[in-house]
Amino acid sequence: MTTTAIATTVLVTGANKGLGREAVRRFATMGRRVFLAARDTARGTAAVRELAAEGLEAEFVPMDITSDESVQEAVELVSSRTRHLDVLVNNAGVGAPATPPAETPAAEVGVVFETNVLGTIRVTNAFLPLLQAGENPRIVMVSSGMGSIATMTDPATAGLVPPTLGYPASKAALNMITSQYALALPHIRINAVDPGYTATDLTDHTGFQTVTEGTDAIVELAEIEPTGPTGGFFDRNGRTPW
Ligand code: NAP
Repeated sequence: MTTTAIATTVLVTGANKGLGREAVRRFATMGRRVFLAARDTARGTAAVRELAAEGLEAEFVPMDITSDESVQEAVELVSSRTRHLDVLVNNAGVGAPATPPAETPAAEVGVVFETNVLGTIRVTNAFLPLLQAGENPRIVMVSSGMGSIATMTDPATAGLVPPTLGYPASKAALNMITSQYALALPHIRINAVDPGYTATDLTDHTGFQTVTEGTDAIVELAEIEPTGPTGGFFDRNGRTPW
């Protein structure tokens, strides 16, 4: 008797461009079944068409991570197409103006947290039932080296970027959230990754890594075995300090 292998299912948020789109491209190349989530239908479907032109398949899922309604609709759409989700990549994120701390309005920080922190919690909780329906669920939180207090206060690296509040604090919060989810849900591999400084719209393409290099850690942590690490922070070279 032959059995048909069920493809690993992966959902990537904010996947119409940048690191998210490259992660989708790599997962599809590896034969994974990929849900490409994006908040804008025109941009999301354009990304799906671009991948199709390369002979790769991805399924578009409309999802604005700042909206309860949109995230719930996304869960319903994915649930109608698959009984479980193996991997959730929480990639969607926004940058912030380079306002010095003493001049930063509190509301400016709130805007960044709304997406990078609250949006990620909203998506994670909404997709937990689908993840828990699988045998080896994994969640990858796309954080940043700028969320590492160790790195940002290291005399060797402090000063490379001007001090700001919103973006680094949002990614530091995401790191803590990762550690707490991992402690609470030991049957799920939940890790944070720092992609490294990568040429995308977020960095005005000043990053020195390609998007392929920037997605190395995302792909690696998405592919870990049930015995693999959880509650860790990794870049493409391995563990990195919180
Ligand atoms: P990017 O090219 O600007 O892509 C960001 C993606 O997030 C876009 O698809 C964007 O959609 C989406 N997004 C933003 N708000 C959203 C929302 N409310 N709902 C759904 N999607 C939303 O940036 P990137 O460099 O690929 O960044 C991806 C992740 O990597 C982010 O979490 C970022 O913080 C992190 N990161 C990047 C670097 C780097 O050097 N590039 C370094 C460290 C960490 P729209 O196109 O609709 O705006």
